[in-house]
Amino acid sequence: MWLPLLVGALVGALHPVAAPACQPGQGAQAQCQTPSENKATCVDISLGSCNDVSYSKTIFPNLLDQKSRGVIEYSSEYILMSVLHNLLQGECNPDLRILGCSIMAPKCEEGKIVKPCRKVCEALRKNCLPAFDAIDMAWPYFLDCDRFFVDEVEGCFDPLAKLRGETEFVEDAPSEVPTFIQFTHHSYSQMVRELKKVESRCSHIAKLYSIGRSFEGKDLFVIEFSTSPGHHELLKPEFKYIGNMHGNEVVGKELLIYLAQYLCSEYLTGNSRIQTLINNTRIHLLPSMNPDGYELAAEEGAGYNGWTNGRQTSQNLDLNRNFPDLTSEAYRLSRIRGARTDHLPVPQSYWWGKVAPETKAVMKWIKSIPFVLSASLHGGDLVVSYPYDYSVHPLEEKMFSPTPDEKMFKLLSKAYADAHPGISDKSEMRCGGNFVKRGGIINGAEWYSFAGGMADFNYLHTNCFEVTVELGCEKFPLEEELYSLWQQNKEALLKFIEMVEFLVTSFFLLPFPAAFSTNGLQVHR
Ligand SMILES: [Zn+2]
Repeated sequence: MWLPLLVGALVGALHPVAAPACQPGQGAQAQCQTPSENKATCVDISLGSCNDVSYSKTIFPNLLDQKSRGVIEYSSEYILMSVLHNLLQGECNPDLRILGCSIMAPKCEEGKIVKPCRKVCEALRKNCLPAFDAIDMAWPYFLDCDRFFVDEVEGCFDPLAKLRGETEFVEDAPSEVPTFIQFTHHSYSQMVRELKKVESRCSHIAKLYSIGRSFEGKDLFVIEFSTSPGHHELLKPEFKYIGNMHGNEVVGKELLIYLAQYLCSEYLTGNSRIQTLINNTRIHLLPSMNPDGYELAAEEGAGYNGWTNGRQTSQNLDLNRNFPDLTSEAYRLSRIRGARTDHLPVPQSYWWGKVAPETKAVMKWIKSIPFVLSASLHGGDLVVSYPYDYSVHPLEEKMFSPTPDEKMFKLLSKAYADAHPGISDKSEMRCGGNFVKRGGIINGAEWYSFAGGMADFNYLHTNCFEVTVELGCEKFPLEEELYSLWQQNKEALLKFIEMVEFLVTSFFLLPFPAAFSTNGLQVHR
């Protein structure tokens, strides 16, 4: 009953936050007045989750009596609204979010709020109640149709009108892409050059650093985005993306280079969604964890690379089999009453084996920064898989092996899958496995079991939630396919980072112990 607990905690926490001055029903009959009705200044909408509403001006305080953008962004109502899509598995969205925006960022004309129409609210409520019932969740109080919405005779507007007129998916034309993103493959030195350019262009929010070296001595560069580059800030969650762990799976590497360029450029041009993202989260991108393997694969050339050349490091080690196997230990401990299975130590015997310098570097990195959410980007299939990757029964190669946080892992994986048109496209024929019926996600061990993976290690050693994203059937696609791969993944990459806020919020609202150490945010299961 994890999800209802979470939802109950979220909804329960909503009521005391910002009770509006008006009581149910009063606002509509003008028996009371929200403070906003006395103000006279319309301002631009700058809320990331509301940047696609049909109007451009709003006013403070909003209909929940929240007096500034900052107050709104940190409110439980706003966070809940931003994650409703995932909670409801995509049902009723974006309609619900847009409706929520008409309350949290109400339309403003001539210094006055134009309230949304009650009949729009009631129609949506009727359609969506089954989806809420399915997850044992009540209709959110801030979407109370009687309380915040008015009848047409009182002068209202339909916040969903634009949505109904624009059901077609509108893809950005290539000409709208900032010109400095070159959708090409990058050699190691070209990659470093591009990342350095981003760092100097966005030096106030970006920092390039190395977490160690590959076997052949190449620096493993990470580019970080934060309002305080180089420093962990108390309460600010840490996020990471890792690409190219398998040297011949190159799409993740290129996407992370483009993402770095995109984040920098959009922050500079004032994209409020990207600014909110970077203001609230410290984002680390490691485009290539296996640069030696990449160079080997690249020698064969895009489109010609076989299935395996360059997958391993130059020491012939598969990095996603090279981490300590803590999963077996977790299974053993789970059979002992009262034993904890989080923050498991690395067994001494692990160091007797062959440990790649790339693995060591990443282990040291995740030990030094309290990451809470992560994804490792691979290629060769089209699916998001999540821990455990190692089967609960060593002899069963395909066995559903959930962590105690199965529901959270599913929500996180769905967030990426649902935002990706290919993974969520129910009609598409897949390479390899067919994951359509599962919504494009799968428990790793149920797909195929392996030990020594990075995701299980993240979870069991540091409590970081890491999923594995398989970005597509081709591991080393032709250059002309890179632009559309970026288009397919851009929204999913951003949405997944945004899930960090949901993850952290749910930890604080759930009845699990959470603690702050001098190292910063430490979340315990
Ligand atoms: Zn891989």
